Amino acid sequence: LRTLFLIGAGCSRNYPEADHGIVGLESPLNRDFFDKAKLVIDHDRLDATRLRSLFRDLHQLYGLHLRNPDLGASSLDNLEAVMTHLNMKRQLFDSRRYHPEPTSEEVLKELIAYVIIRAQSGPVSTTHRALARKFAPGDTIVDFNYDLLLENAMAAEGRFDEAGYCLPFYQVVTPDGVRAMEHDQAKMQVLKLHGSLNWGRCIECTSLILITNPLRLLRLFPSREPSLECPRCNRKGSLELMIVPPLQTKEYADNPFRFLWLYSERKTIGTDRIVSIGYSFSDNDRAAEALLRTSVGSQTRISLDVVTTPDSRTQLERRYHKVFPNAEISWFDSLVDYVR
Ligand SMILES: [Zn+2]
Repeated sequence: LRTLFLIGAGCSRNYPEADHGIVGLESPLNRDFFDKAKLVIDHDRLDATRLRSLFRDLHQLYGLHLRNPDLGASSLDNLEAVMTHLNMKRQLFDSRRYHPEPTSEEVLKELIAYVIIRAQSGPVSTTHRALARKFAPGDTIVDFNYDLLLENAMAAEGRFDEAGYCLPFYQVVTPDGVRAMEHDQAKMQVLKLHGSLNWGRCIECTSLILITNPLRLLRLFPSREPSLECPRCNRKGSLELMIVPPLQTKEYADNPFRFLWLYSERKTIGTDRIVSIGYSFSDNDRAAEALLRTSVGSQTRISLDVVTTPDSRTQLERRYHKVFPNAEISWFDSLVDYVR
């Protein structure tokens, strides 16, 4: 059987080992991102001046208090809707003059990364390790998450190394310095179609860099380390975080994303089984739907294992049946259930 694993944000909720000690903090989902962000901002006493442009736009768009917006108890939409509003506002209504401070979208993108990193501090996830043991050679793993829980667990099982991202990193930045990539034969591949917290790209020379401590990529939330410089062109502070922001119309025209989507399409041709784990498959995920329709094919009699919380079942069933009318679906209420 040729299996395609689709990994979504719900998969990262299976991480009880987190040791951040922040009550109520779990890996964020689209619908509860701002609740989780509020917990992190309050607990870490994040400097409001760094978040200023975001707070200013949230005040204008949603009437939140400017200095200390109560993100948690607010009328904020889900993350994707807010990011889309910020993007529309800038494109349509903001003047095109040079902005001396980061835009609200840039701030929100880094805040997303920061909240995820904080929510996932801790040892390697045992549930993800159990999942990693279920992967067979030849399976395709498409991961829509920015976080590293899955790769770290696969690496602990000896099933992943940095070549598994299928990207030509110019160099790897570690706490001990800069080195070349160590492996050129991937053990298993993880195709991260929305980017990853540990991928950086130089805005000057466009080199892709792998960074073992993703906190160092966040310019707004410095981890008290010297500012990063590009190992190729030596420009300081030029590495940007390579994650595709959660917009209703995401852009994949640029590499490495164009390549990763194309490659995923090729790899998933002939799939006869899909395992969907914590993936919400929202109506806006047109690119993912196009991928499945193009490569797997809508008329295929695939078997579909769906791991989701019971309250999302009806919506997901409707969604998957629209794409695969002939699919046979088996349901699992949790990842622990599935890997057992
Ligand atoms: Zn550079």
